[in-house]
Amino acid sequence: MTEDTDKAQVLSFEEARAVVEGQAGLLHPSETETLALLDAIGRVLARAVAADRDLPPFPRATRDGYAVRSADLAVLPARLQVIGEIRAGEVPDHLPSNLSHGQTIAIMTGAPVPSGADAVVMVEFTAKKDKYVEITKGVAAGENIVPRGAEAHQGAILLDKGTRLNDAAIALAASAGRSQILVYRRPRVAILATGDEIVDIDASPSPTQIRNSNSYSLAVQVKGAGGEPELAPVAPDEPRMLKQLIEQGLRSDLLLITGGVSMGRYDLVEQVLDELRAEFFFTGAKIQPGRPIVFGKARGKYVFGLPGNPISTMVTFELFARPILDALAGMSPRKLRFLHARAKTEIRVKSGLTRFLPAILTGEFENTYIELVPWQGSGDIAAVARANCYAVIAPDRERIAVEEWVPVMMK
Ligand code: AMP
Ligand code: MG
Repeated sequence: MTEDTDKAQVLSFEEARAVVEGQAGLLHPSETETLALLDAIGRVLARAVAADRDLPPFPRATRDGYAVRSADLAVLPARLQVIGEIRAGEVPDHLPSNLSHGQTIAIMTGAPVPSGADAVVMVEFTAKKDKYVEITKGVAAGENIVPRGAEAHQGAILLDKGTRLNDAAIALAASAGRSQILVYRRPRVAILATGDEIVDIDASPSPTQIRNSNSYSLAVQVKGAGGEPELAPVAPDEPRMLKQLIEQGLRSDLLLITGGVSMGRYDLVEQVLDELRAEFFFTGAKIQPGRPIVFGKARGKYVFGLPGNPISTMVTFELFARPILDALAGMSPRKLRFLHARAKTEIRVKSGLTRFLPAILTGEFENTYIELVPWQGSGDIAAVARANCYAVIAPDRERIAVEEWVPVMMK
């Protein structure tokens, strides 16, 4: 590869992200399975979930109190005749079909509001005496009632295809009676660590060997994104063996390689991918950590060559591999969004790269601050383990002042 074409493939962070999002948008997984609702946590819906009936299915009282005709409370205190009580889950067929002027019915939270009533007065503003209740506070029509179908009408889509099932989505599916649910198959993600110095975590490393930690951080990230990690044996920096393991990894839905993508003489990943006639979308991004990131496609599968430094591996997965994995899992594409917090201390960096620096959110409530974690560079796993987020610094910035708002990527 000439220096020119190599340079042409080093993109800005935004450009690289747009390329990944573009490719993610082309993916439409088709393999599905039906799971019991709670086995589908974190999975992606392959078919929309519709409301099987109106939500709520009846006008629902949202307070314990008295169902009233709001006009009856024009003059306060008002004295109304209590003609009965409706509990949650009760069919009030023992009561008159319509509440008349001057009447009220005691009602519990979650119970159906009887016809004729247009509001519920909270019990706190009432005093019951025999068959009458004195009410000291007026209500507007509609107060403390959710009308039938106000949340969703029968047949309306509650959850779109492509939705990842979190707590609220599972609750909504449960409310529609979906004990079984159709989701996409979990994508299989091959994880291949490379490097002559890298050894398995069960081996006893020689003084110059390094235990393989990247396969483990990636496995966690892959699982978190709804994928099924498949750890390959560590590949040496030797083209024949590396090629064999890459070919094996390309049988999975996605291949993540770590290490071997820098400029060193034994960084062979790009070369081997080239031999496999890979199409390269980019071979670097102007970010730190993670500059030498490779994104390509070989044998119909997407492949990432993530830099080997452990924090670079974690960050580049989050920034670039996750959208592809999300798409393989069936999720509709989404943009990367950052939260913001104020700088607790001044931040100084060199300009030129978009930086994702391990940081800690401190303080509480609206006084949340961000502070960088001291680190020895992108190999410092201990530092990133102390961090709970990354501070995102734009490439044109050299100094962030105390109290300035800083974009934050949660981890
Ligand atoms: P490389 O990208 O291959 O040049 O590796 C960059 C740095 O990351 C080197 O210090 C490697 O020892 C380290 N490294 C590479 N792969 C791993 C891994 N799987 N686990 C832990 N450290 C790694
Ligand atoms: Mg290496």
